[in-house]
Amino acid sequence: TNPIYYDEDADVSNIEDETVAILGYGSQGHAHALNLHESGVDVVVGLRESSSSREAAQDEGLEVMTPVDAAAAADMVMMLVPDTVQPSVYAQIEDELDAGDTLMFAHGFNIHYGQIRPADDVDVMMVAPKSPGHLVRRNYEKGEGTPGLLAIYQDTTGEAKEEGLAYAKAIGCTRAGVIETTFREETETDLFGEQAVLCGGVTEMVKVGFETLVDAGYSPEMAYFECLNELKLIVDLMYEGGHMEMWNSVSDTAEYGGLTRGEEVINREGMEEILEGVQNGEFAREWITENQANRPAYKQYRDAEQNHQIEEVGGRLRDLFAWGDDAE
Ligand code: NDP
Ligand code: MG
Ligand code: MG
Repeated sequence: TNPIYYDEDADVSNIEDETVAILGYGSQGHAHALNLHESGVDVVVGLRESSSSREAAQDEGLEVMTPVDAAAAADMVMMLVPDTVQPSVYAQIEDELDAGDTLMFAHGFNIHYGQIRPADDVDVMMVAPKSPGHLVRRNYEKGEGTPGLLAIYQDTTGEAKEEGLAYAKAIGCTRAGVIETTFREETETDLFGEQAVLCGGVTEMVKVGFETLVDAGYSPEMAYFECLNELKLIVDLMYEGGHMEMWNSVSDTAEYGGLTRGEEVINREGMEEILEGVQNGEFAREWITENQANRPAYKQYRDAEQNHQIEEVGGRLRDLFAWGDDAE
């Protein structure tokens, strides 16, 4: 099992002499930059001249430069532009990484699949909150933490781990707990999870459930509530207390029906094939090629998703009903 680190294992003063460049000010970028800044760490934000986020960052009291200038000014450079953009941004800033500097990521794709190949004399590591950026920021402001991952890919200075833990503490992750992992494990589990379970698996199950009911003549509104809306209630119970809390909260009929029928909808071989495609690099190659071609298939899939009946029905129902202020 992987080690887990908390606040008492980390010391922000290990990066008090460092300047951290945050490249990008999107979901993760704004959260890292603001949390580091408020933790007393010296931060500069790297954004291209045309970026519409420049003002937002400056309004928060952050210093904004171009990515190249930010990397030149910094000892630690955190890549928080979209993964597909990182190789080209890296090519711009590569020469600004001096021996002993640290290159950081919040996801391992580009290192693991060889899209970014750092020089031998820089430290390379990952500090990855396991949550969208707005929650990383919101939790920090509330004095709470966001669970995170730490991975060391290259440690030339012997200081990578203590600096990584210091960074993780400064963005609030060690308040919740930071699990140590590797670039390979993070990248492969992340891609598998989002494809097979979280994003791909769940949407496909909801869609096909909805279609099965509608095709059998049931009303789309009933199908929507049953297959999509109630999913959140079930997932909240699982999140709070695991499967048993969920099973204990639903009726015995739901529990028996679920336990005996659930397996029927899952294609275990399909899951194994997805994992294989992640492990052997086939998915990565496909996605890199797709981006080089300006994303023709991506656009098609996205259009089909947007035009699916469940989107129209859901939009209408979400306007008609109020489901409470806690909906995010
Ligand atoms: P975003 O899509 O939110 O990043 C957008 C930022 O990148 C903007 O500031 C944008 O600035 C900048 N940017 C885009 N293109 C360029 C470019 N060509 N040159 C310079 N800057 C550019 O990214 P995320 O925060 O979602 O992801 C960042 C990293 O964090 C990724 O590695 C991701 O895998 C990882 N991660 C993301 C999580 C999430 O929930 N979002 C969770 C955990 C990890 P501009 O205004 O110039 O376009
Ligand atoms: Mg430098
Ligand atoms: Mg250093």
